[in-house]
Amino acid sequence: MPHNPLSRIKKGALTRRDFLWLSSLAAAGFMFRCATDPVTGKKQFMLVSEDTEKQIDQQYSPLQFSTDFGAVQDSRLNSYISQVGNKMAAASHRPHMPYSFRVVNATYVNAYAFPGGSIAATRGIMLSLENEAELASLLGHELGHVNARHAAEQMSKGQLTQAIVGGISVLAGTQSAALGDLAGQLGQISAGALLASYSRDNEREADALGMTYMVGAGYGSEGFVGLMEMLNSMSKHKSTTVDLLFATHPMSQERYDTAVQTANTKYKAALKGPLYKERYMDHTAGLRAKKDAIEEIQNGEKMLAERKYDAASGHFRQALKKAPDDYVALCMMSISNLAQKQYAVGRQYAEMAQTAYPQEAQAYHLSGFANVQLKDFAKAYEEFNAYERMLPGNPNTIFFKGYCQEGMNHIEQAADEYQRYLQVVRQGQYAQHAYKRLVDWGYIK
Ligand SMILES: [Zn+2]
Repeated sequence: MPHNPLSRIKKGALTRRDFLWLSSLAAAGFMFRCATDPVTGKKQFMLVSEDTEKQIDQQYSPLQFSTDFGAVQDSRLNSYISQVGNKMAAASHRPHMPYSFRVVNATYVNAYAFPGGSIAATRGIMLSLENEAELASLLGHELGHVNARHAAEQMSKGQLTQAIVGGISVLAGTQSAALGDLAGQLGQISAGALLASYSRDNEREADALGMTYMVGAGYGSEGFVGLMEMLNSMSKHKSTTVDLLFATHPMSQERYDTAVQTANTKYKAALKGPLYKERYMDHTAGLRAKKDAIEEIQNGEKMLAERKYDAASGHFRQALKKAPDDYVALCMMSISNLAQKQYAVGRQYAEMAQTAYPQEAQAYHLSGFANVQLKDFAKAYEEFNAYERMLPGNPNTIFFKGYCQEGMNHIEQAADEYQRYLQVVRQGQYAQHAYKRLVDWGYIK
C-alpha cells in the first residue's frame, strides 16, 4: 500500500454528467491463522478470523438489506422466520454466532447469508415456498454456508479478495445490475462479492448440513426434497428474477437427486415428518395477499433491465393500484422516472416511499439524487444526511454530501466530505472528481 493513499490517483476531468459508480471499499483486514473447520473438525488454512467474518457481516449486510428495500414491515412474518431459523441455528455447529433472520422486501427470488450469520429471504422466494419445512430447508442451507465458513474459505483462497478490494460487485439479476451505473447513484450497493459464487462442493455441503439441521429440528425430510424440486424447476425456466439465486447457489439435477436419495435413506425415518403447511400459509397470508402486486413489480423490473422504461412504469403503476403503499413499487416507480431523467416525478415517488416506510434509508438516497439533478443542493444534502444517519458506511453518500456542499459553494465543508470519501475510495470517477477539487482548492499540493 502506498504511503500516501492519494498518490495512485491520476488527475482526470469529470463533468457533472459523468457520474459513474466505480467506488471501491477499503479491503477488509485479513489475518493469517490456522483454524479448525467447525463442521469436519479438520484443520483448515484460514486467512479470515471469526472476528473478521462478524465485522464484514456488520459492515455490509445492512447495505445489502437496504438495497433489497429493507425488512418487510410485517413484524409477525419477521418473528416467524426468526423462530424457524433460530431453532436450527441453536443446534448448528456454530451456535455462538450472532444469527439473525428477516424477510426483505425485494421481489426477485433469492436467499443469502453473510459470514457472521445475518440471513435474508426475499418476498419473491417466500411466495414460492409451500410449507414451513421448505422454509426450514432454505434457511438450513444458508446456515450450512455460515457453519462450513464457505465465504471465509473462498476469501482465504483469494477468490474473493480481489472482488472486495476492487469494490462491491453487482451481480446479475438484481435491480442494481439492471440499472448499471445508475445503481450506485441511487444508493444501491450489492455486496455481491461476499455472497457470491459458492462452488458446487460448497452447495453439496450446504445441502447436506441443511437437511441435517431441518430434520434435527423435527421437520419431515420431504420438505427438503420439495425445496429442491422448486429450485430445479425454476432453474429450467430462465428468468431474470432467479438469475442471482443461481449465480450464487448453482443448481443441478445432482442436488435434486442427492436430496431425494438422502431423504429416502439416511433420513428415511423423518420422511413423513410434519411439513406445517397450514402454519406457513397462515404466517404468509399478508404476503400472499400482495402476490399480484409483487408479480407486477417483477415484470416491471424485467422491463427496466431491458431499458423499456414506459413498459416498466406501466407495471409499477399496476402494482401501485393493487398495493398503493408498497415500498418497493414506490421506489421502483421513482427509479424508473429518474432513469428517464424525469426528476421531479422521481422525487415525488421517492417522497411517497419515505412516507410508506420512514425507517428505511433507500428512498432518501433516491430523493437526494433527484434533488441534486434539480439543483436543490440544500434539500439534497438534507436527504443524504438523513440517509447516512440511518445507514452509515455507503461511500456514495459521502461523495454526494460533498457534491451538494460544492453545489452550495461551501468549499470548506465540501473539502471535508471529499477527504472523508477519499479515505474509503481511492479509484474511480468520483475519487477523481474529489481529488481534482481538493487540488484546485489547495488542500492537496
Ligand atoms: Zn448455497
